[in-house]
Amino acid sequence: MNIGVLALQGDVREHLAALAESDVLARPVRRPEELDGVDGLVIPGGESTAISKLAVAFGLLDPIRKRIADGMPVYGSCAGMIMLARTVLDGRPDQESFHGIDMTVRRNAFGRQVDSFEASVEIDGIEGGPFHAVFIRAPWVEETGGDVRVLGRVAEGAAAGRIVAVRQGNLLATAFHPELTGDLRVHRYFVEMVRQAAPVR
Ligand code: GLN
Repeated sequence: MNIGVLALQGDVREHLAALAESDVLARPVRRPEELDGVDGLVIPGGESTAISKLAVAFGLLDPIRKRIADGMPVYGSCAGMIMLARTVLDGRPDQESFHGIDMTVRRNAFGRQVDSFEASVEIDGIEGGPFHAVFIRAPWVEETGGDVRVLGRVAEGAAAGRIVAVRQGNLLATAFHPELTGDLRVHRYFVEMVRQAAPVR
């Protein structure tokens, strides 16, 4: 089983490290040929406008859309969540997404004054207590379609109740960055999704 990390921009290295610690072979994906060899893909945090632009330039936009339509498991954190959203609010007019999850996200939603903050988030389906979640100019999910499962909301503070983790079929997204905190539970959850979806090789 191979998991790729979309390596156009953002915290690619941290995701590769978190996956390696979760005992899977993880590799950077920059070219369409590299995409062909992976059973699942992580889209890192970073800047969704840059990732969008580079995905077009590297010829990855349509191949990733197609793999998603064919059922490849994908996990997006922060900018990666934005890249998975069908509709992006406060995006740039030319910003593209992979159109995976039937949801509307708002970029930089928590307010520009509070560039980053930490909060406690309980994730449905992941045991062991709430996540110490780190948000950096993060989006939140404003609307979800019928079969999108809300997995987590901010528990306390001004943003209490905001949706920050979702799953739709083989697609998983969090507005926060588990790759930065050493808590491997989201990566392990995703690895299990890929294992269940991957053809036996
Ligand atoms: N604000 C960024 C964007 O719009 C996301 C920030 C992040 O990934 N930490 O893409």
